[in-house]
Amino acid sequence: MNRPARVVIDRAAARANLARARALAPRQRLMAVVKADAYGHGVARMAQLYAGADAFGVACLEEAVELREAGVDAPIGLLEGPFSPAELPEIQRLGLDTVVHHEEQVRMLELAPAGRPVRVWLKVDSGMHRLGVEPGQAAALWQRLHGAAAVAGGTVLATHLASAHLRAGDSVDAQLRAFETALAGLPGPRSIANSAALLSRPDTRGDWVRPGLMLYGVSPFEDCTAAELGLAPVMTLRSALISVRRVPAGEGVGYGGTWRCPETMPVGVVALGYGDGYPRHAGSGTPVLVNGVRTQVIGRASMDMITVDLRPVPAAAIGDPVVFWGRGLPVEEIAAHAGTIPYELLCSVRVRARFVESGPPAP
Ligand SMILES: *Cc1c(COP(=O)(O)O)cnc(C)c1O
Repeated sequence: MNRPARVVIDRAAARANLARARALAPRQRLMAVVKADAYGHGVARMAQLYAGADAFGVACLEEAVELREAGVDAPIGLLEGPFSPAELPEIQRLGLDTVVHHEEQVRMLELAPAGRPVRVWLKVDSGMHRLGVEPGQAAALWQRLHGAAAVAGGTVLATHLASAHLRAGDSVDAQLRAFETALAGLPGPRSIANSAALLSRPDTRGDWVRPGLMLYGVSPFEDCTAAELGLAPVMTLRSALISVRRVPAGEGVGYGGTWRCPETMPVGVVALGYGDGYPRHAGSGTPVLVNGVRTQVIGRASMDMITVDLRPVPAAAIGDPVVFWGRGLPVEEIAAHAGTIPYELLCSVRVRARFVESGPPAP
């Protein structure tokens, strides 16, 4: 038997989540965000499963190349735009869309060699203060882009929300007002919504929506589960027991002996650790499923092993399956235990855990 650590990708769940996003924005176009290797799910595989999307959003040229090489011919947008003028010939050759978030990038396009014209998403900073041109500059930069030979028509006008996931209504309202003021009079499609906004703010739909997290079946909200939102987890991270033993009362388990057995008890060792992307900060008490039964991690995760409490599953034996997150155990819960967000956990899963895909539809 090979090492049993696996990432299982539920294809039916992926398709159902895309359908759910579509249903929320039936008259809009949809850019499926697949940056960071599709949030750790594997970008080429996920682009196939999200083939119904109108476009894909990626963070860099390397990711766009991977998609084109996998045969994706849908539009692909570079969410941070070109990092240097040297990227432009490749952007033109691959027919990519690009965000323009800074005057520097406007200049790159003005100086670009003639070639296939590039569709631009002009990004305006409406209040998040990360990427985007100043609202007051938007109209002038839009004019300059339209005068550039390398720029195709139909520039999309885009912005990104800082706090839609917090349901911070005031902040979203203020950003929407700043965006509309900046764009007054400029023609072209609008794009505002990430997953949280798409799920909670119909007034942010605009012409293009840009969901990421929800497509992977994960809730962007702390006060609402994915199931409540009609989403199903795509990734299940699982492995199996490779040792089962009884440890006497009072003994410590794992590095540093941070967890002491309150009684003589069965302890399982699972072949998966922080080297596979499991968060080391998820300490004793973090839930896991052994044979489908909910129990807990005990002690510190090691690089390739984790110890678990087998008292709730006394019959558990070597080879029995263990689920760390996914179907039956939301990654959102593990993120809360590890003091992080589900995005980070999904992105951190390493290829050491081999990928398999499951066909049957989710129940
Ligand atoms: C990552 C990203 C998204 C998707 O955000 P989710 O919260 O995963 O839905 C949308 N737009 C931009 C610009 C992004 O960088």
